[in-house]
Amino acid sequence: MVKPRCGNPDIVNGTTHMNSGKSPTDHTVAHFSFFEGQPRWPSSKSKLKYAFLPENQLTDSVKAAFRRAFDKWSKVTPLTFKETDSYRLADIRIGFFVRDHGDGNPFDGPMKILAHAFAPPTGFFHLDGEENWVVDSEYLKEGTVDLESVAVHEIGHLLGLDHSSEKEAIMFPTLEDGTRKVELSRDDIKGVQMLYGSNPNYNGSSTVYPHRQENDISGYSTFGSLCPHWIIGSFLALVLSILL
Ligand SMILES: [Zn+2]
Ligand SMILES: [Zn+2]
Repeated sequence: MVKPRCGNPDIVNGTTHMNSGKSPTDHTVAHFSFFEGQPRWPSSKSKLKYAFLPENQLTDSVKAAFRRAFDKWSKVTPLTFKETDSYRLADIRIGFFVRDHGDGNPFDGPMKILAHAFAPPTGFFHLDGEENWVVDSEYLKEGTVDLESVAVHEIGHLLGLDHSSEKEAIMFPTLEDGTRKVELSRDDIKGVQMLYGSNPNYNGSSTVYPHRQENDISGYSTFGSLCPHWIIGSFLALVLSILL
């Protein structure tokens, strides 16, 4: 089983770190985490503008996948996301790039690294142009990557969320190959609402949070403001290929 994984290093300088998000009042445990220093968009920036790299000439159906991904986050926060034609002036700049594209984090062709995004207020969201991106789940199969699923995850990073150890969370670092995962979990919602507050129209229950065992061993470390790369790869396959 191949498990695409976001390659944000779990250990930096040999130490582990995780913001447990533990609340002293309700005795619940959250598994989300933030980047170092908890960067977030300032409240003066609640109406965020995003733009697509013009050279990519994306189709409407591709742009719609990003819009749906943004909608997931705006539903639960006071943030709004609006597309603008001005790539230069946009808060969030989305582009497909191949290989070395000038930010020191080159893409690697098909599989392994899929995308990376930067914490606020940088706003860069880069995707590997050589992946087999799918916007219509009808065509989703092994070896393809669901664009909306990756977009929902990376937007979480763009808003200031690091990885979560909660398996159901969008911010969990792995995603089954060729599958779709676009619904925010209570963990994602709780995390982002800790940074921005709730959407007044959001009536989901984020106050009731089931207690879960705190049995996470791996720390989810911060890595500057750089987000992570999605890496497709079965570690088992990797080990096997090394052994063979
Ligand atoms: Zn990630
Ligand atoms: Zn990049």
